[in-house]
Amino acid sequence: MSSKALDQFLNENLNDLKERGLYNEIDPVESPNGPVIKIGGKELVNLSSNNYLGLATNERLKEAAVEAVKEWGVGAGAVRTINGTLALHTRLEEKIAKFKSTEAAIAFQSGFNCNMGAISAVMNKHDAILSDELNHASIIDGCRLSKAKIIRFNHSDMEDLRQKAKEAKESGQYNKIMVITDGVFSMDGDVAKLPEIVEIAEEFDLITYVDDAHGSGVLGKGAGTVKHFGLSDRVDMQMGTLSKAIGVVGGYVAGKQNLVDWLKVAARPFLFSTSLTPADVTACTEALNILMESTELHDRLWENGNYLKKGLKELGFDIGDSETPITPCIIGEEKTTQKFSKRLYEEGVYAKSIVFPTVPRGTGRVRNMPTAAHTKEMLDRAIAIYEKVGKEMGII
Ligand SMILES: *Cc1c(COP(=O)(O)O)cnc(C)c1O
Repeated sequence: MSSKALDQFLNENLNDLKERGLYNEIDPVESPNGPVIKIGGKELVNLSSNNYLGLATNERLKEAAVEAVKEWGVGAGAVRTINGTLALHTRLEEKIAKFKSTEAAIAFQSGFNCNMGAISAVMNKHDAILSDELNHASIIDGCRLSKAKIIRFNHSDMEDLRQKAKEAKESGQYNKIMVITDGVFSMDGDVAKLPEIVEIAEEFDLITYVDDAHGSGVLGKGAGTVKHFGLSDRVDMQMGTLSKAIGVVGGYVAGKQNLVDWLKVAARPFLFSTSLTPADVTACTEALNILMESTELHDRLWENGNYLKKGLKELGFDIGDSETPITPCIIGEEKTTQKFSKRLYEEGVYAKSIVFPTVPRGTGRVRNMPTAAHTKEMLDRAIAIYEKVGKEMGII
């Protein structure tokens, strides 16, 4: 017999979401997640993945993963601290550190796990964390788990950060204070003001933590936002994911050797959750080899991003102030935004609508993520469909 209380909870909440039009139906993709995908039997230009460099379907990565399975099997067999650290994991971590120009790095099973594990391994209830109000959900959860005092500052507002850092420092209430930010904010594509953040951090002795999920592979010739600003030895903790530009799955923290030594004994997902599989680790290592050999994919990503932005802007769409290939197309009202995205789908473009509460009310947008794998023909097709739907709905 099932619990009545649980049934009541589930039904009430599901119905409530459905009534408010907030229940998310998930569309399974019937093809590899490349630049063109198939959903519901329809071929669509895919502008919704985080597969920035097209590596999720890259032939070299696929081959490396298949070879790894043949030689090492499908599972790592244990958590990292028992005997789930294969030579493959160590090799990947050395490569990440080299790629990031840091002393060391530690890999986790996901970017989400990194933030849950690393923040709470370093911060505790006697500390405070200054957190940008638009930081990712995994940062918010990692901060909560640490039990440190969370002090939100206005998005990229350096006056506000400075003021709050000063207050926290002068209060004498906290043992340690951290400032934590996304490197690239994925809703608008804007970049954190790292040079100012680092200056404030140095003035008030703050620990610096940058979540570069959307900056790695994209900025700094691929090495990320911290490298882009030349701050590799002035940021304490660089977190990144292996699931976006790198195209596979997993996450990492890069920094000094003593930081990584500590995370290896204190970050709970590292200690209590089975490590990344041989195929994943080997594919990630091959991805880093590709990025360190040449900037070709990075360059093509930017070329495609600029091409799409120019096309949409010339049509008269509001594409915001993105500083990266992420291209929001701001429609405004929530219902209109959802209808716009649905019409794009019907015409052959997969670009998800993002509305309140993910972004402020009245700033609903369709977010486009061009990748290195798109061809000019695919982008032209998408732009033509945007023109058709935009005119039909009176948006341009
Ligand atoms: C996607 C994302 C994560 C989580 O990374 P996963 O590897 O997908 O778990 C963390 N932080 C930010 C800013 C992200 O965008």
